[in-house]
Amino acid sequence: MFAGTSLLLLAVGWWFWPPVAWAAVLIVPLLALGTYDLRGPIRVIASGKILTGFHLVKNLAVGADLCSSARGMMFALGCVHSLICNTNRCPSGVATQDPRLYRGLIVADKAQRVAQFQAKTVHATAELIASAGLFHTSELNRTHIYRRVTQSEIRRYDRIYPYVSAGVLRDPAKAPEAFAVHLEEADPERFVPRYCLTRTDKPCGDPHRARRARNPEGGTRP
Ligand code: SF4
Repeated sequence: MFAGTSLLLLAVGWWFWPPVAWAAVLIVPLLALGTYDLRGPIRVIASGKILTGFHLVKNLAVGADLCSSARGMMFALGCVHSLICNTNRCPSGVATQDPRLYRGLIVADKAQRVAQFQAKTVHATAELIASAGLFHTSELNRTHIYRRVTQSEIRRYDRIYPYVSAGVLRDPAKAPEAFAVHLEEADPERFVPRYCLTRTDKPCGDPHRARRARNPEGGTRP
């Protein structure tokens, strides 16, 4: 079913999101694929706010197979982030069909800048990998990245986002404790949870099922 499939993780909306959103967007799918042992042929592409060599290294270390960077290339092209791409009034001439605006975009010059940005980013990535004593991006893992979590504490990524054994969620008895509530709530037939153990005041999914689950003998009050 998943043969040849690529999973494209689009971190749309990065602009307003705190760093934790990055973890949610990348780590959760990786976790889901890993814990159900589905990674196999699926390739995970990290995208969103990837500008520098470190961004590439970070995403690859966490588990992405490759990275897609649009923003960096746009900056190199002259985008000033005025966020009016849909109006045909792009001041830098990048996202417009108006000849008065795109006249200022000198393709020969910009092409060189974009190519240089790409080459330097790859060079910076190679430097980072080499300085960690590695030869290839495939050698990166979460132990290579550290993050400052408080003023006085730095943690390694594998401590923040621990690895779990492949296929561990196929057997709920072996599942890590942190997954217990979610496994109990999940319904294999639907995306809607069976009921929300974490919100017993407001049952989600089918409210009648939730009520029955709590009170199999019947009763009218949820
Ligand atoms: S309108 Fe042009 S300059 Fe502004 S964000 Fe879009 S591409 Fe960039």
